Amino acid sequence: MRFGKPIARLGLGLLALIAVAAQAAEPVTVYSSRNEQLIRPLFERFTEETGIPVRFITDKEGPLLARLKAEGKNTPADMLMTVDAGNLWQATEQGLLARTESKLLEQNIPEHLRDPQGHWYGLSVRARTIVYSPARVDPKELSDYAALADPRWKGRLCLRTSKKVYNQSLVAMMIARDGEQKTEQVVRGWVANLAAPPFSDDTALIKAIAAGQCDVGIVNTYYLGRLLKDNPDYPVKLFWADQNGAGVHVNVSGAGITRHAPNPAAATQLLEWLSTPEAQALYAGNNLEFTANPKVEQAPVVQAWGKFKSDVINVSEAGRLQRRAVMLMDRAGYR
Ligand code: FE
Repeated sequence: MRFGKPIARLGLGLLALIAVAAQAAEPVTVYSSRNEQLIRPLFERFTEETGIPVRFITDKEGPLLARLKAEGKNTPADMLMTVDAGNLWQATEQGLLARTESKLLEQNIPEHLRDPQGHWYGLSVRARTIVYSPARVDPKELSDYAALADPRWKGRLCLRTSKKVYNQSLVAMMIARDGEQKTEQVVRGWVANLAAPPFSDDTALIKAIAAGQCDVGIVNTYYLGRLLKDNPDYPVKLFWADQNGAGVHVNVSGAGITRHAPNPAAATQLLEWLSTPEAQALYAGNNLEFTANPKVEQAPVVQAWGKFKSDVINVSEAGRLQRRAVMLMDRAGYR
């Protein structure tokens, strides 16, 4: 949007209006722990449609939060975009996010995938479920996360490190559902069943199943999706956990407007746009995640896994119980 010289001759009321419009063309600045390759095409599309430029920096969530905190009122950041409700919850706890009230966001993003107070909204859903070797496991043997503590899986289970927030959130949600005592028993059982020391990432874990090092594991589905995209016959299959119980553990990637955003109006516009079907397909599809907006078709690889029941407990619980989850895993010897 550009405004020429005649502005000087316009009346006051109109000038005020133009001031709002001109402000909207100020750039939105995003701090993102989501990869550049995932967000750049989105932001370019937003700019094409609205004329609002988007500036962004990417880094890991720790440094981004520290930076936001250090910059305080002088931050150039309007929006924080990151993965895992645990991280979004931390940012909220540290007072770094403002509340955003938006009918559109409330319509597009299911209630359990956003902060009850509106500090952040989930934009993609990441399902953390069971994967297995179809050569060595009959899916009839599988049920929920807790059942992987059964002695039948001794020497057959692989897990990612407990240092990863994904597992901290999974265990936090198990605490929310089943209480600390039962969850600790389960985690102890997992540890007793490990075929190998915990892995540093989900991809390595899936490859270990393919290589015969273990038979079952727990991962975020998009990691398997990437391997299947390259090789549809990849010898690891996905199992939707806990379909007779609470459902698959889901987490989100998401975003919130920063407390000291210099350009909150445009940032809200961007956040709202990110929840629309067009943006959602790009945002989640590019990473083979599930869209947070349920009215959008999923990417083909993802669709092939079929529908599943997901746990609808509010994902912010993952943040609230994160510390307890970390301590529990430590006590249980889960490294
Ligand atoms: Fe990931």
